[in-house]
Amino acid sequence: MNIGIVGLGLIGGSLGLDLRSLDHHILGVSRQEQTWQRAKELQTIDAGSVNVEILKDAEIIFICTPIDKIEPEIKKIKECGVSEKVIITDVGSVKKEIVDRIAPELWRNFVGGHPMAGKAESGLEVAERNLFVDKPYVITPVETTPNEAILVVEEIVRSLGAKLYRCSPEAHDRAVAWISHLPVMVSGSLIAACQTDRESLELAQKLASSGFRDTSRVGGGNPQLGAMMAKYNRAELLRSLYQYRQNLDWFIDRIEQKDWEAIEQQLQKNNQARTKFLEV
Ligand code: NAP
Repeated sequence: MNIGIVGLGLIGGSLGLDLRSLDHHILGVSRQEQTWQRAKELQTIDAGSVNVEILKDAEIIFICTPIDKIEPEIKKIKECGVSEKVIITDVGSVKKEIVDRIAPELWRNFVGGHPMAGKAESGLEVAERNLFVDKPYVITPVETTPNEAILVVEEIVRSLGAKLYRCSPEAHDRAVAWISHLPVMVSGSLIAACQTDRESLELAQKLASSGFRDTSRVGGGNPQLGAMMAKYNRAELLRSLYQYRQNLDWFIDRIEQKDWEAIEQQLQKNNQARTKFLEV
């Protein structure tokens, strides 16, 4: 298939590498000239441009830009006369606001999507093959989404080796607030809190090891992406943060009361609960 990718960063670049290796012809669009040229050098795309006109021959287009650029890029695609039969899908980390703005008025053949795969680093240079293998990839069709478009996107997602899920944009945003957007804020707060004890900072930095690496990874990632999650999933993120604050207060109270048994019991429950989220 002729597949367009708008936004050649971590996610767009990784998609390009995988889809090209599956014998698709990849047309890449970047904001900066040097990005698509570098993508061509790295064999991420077959042809590239800073102009969406290159997408006129595409059969399906993946929008992999920052969240706030998804709708403007689709408007540009519409204005330049790309056929409305072309399927457009996105990879944005938030779904309700994006899908509401696009489907069906702006682009009827639009299927919202979100691969649950990422890294602390961003940009084309850290794109890699097989990033989506065995990772969840959720699509969020709505009532007006044409079934044929859903099936095409699903087939491509499966070909990436990802685990495919389907849900509403609302259900997506509520669930990812807990397991993706809340962790960014919690992990970000952890890193910020560790900076406040000036006296022990230098030693703490030297002693930090695997535990700190795991717990600080998402909070130390792409700042623009974290801010977009907060802006576009504000209500669900706030809901999860208020609940999290209660759970943190619970631990503070138990520690103040020296209730070590209650803490151990809770940590025992957590130990079991974690296995339901992750294959550990
Ligand atoms: P990234 O590595 O920072 O890449 C974003 C790319 O978008 C940059 O290479 C930039 O290209 C390009 N860009 C920015 N504005 C553009 C525009 N107007 N037109 C064309 N290209 C434009 O970001 P990312 O991590 O791949 O994230 C991209 C999308 O994936 C976001 O919507 C995010 O929510 C979603 N997502 C991210 C993750 C994750 O963990 N990182 C996971 C799942 C989904 P130039 O180099 O040309 O400026």
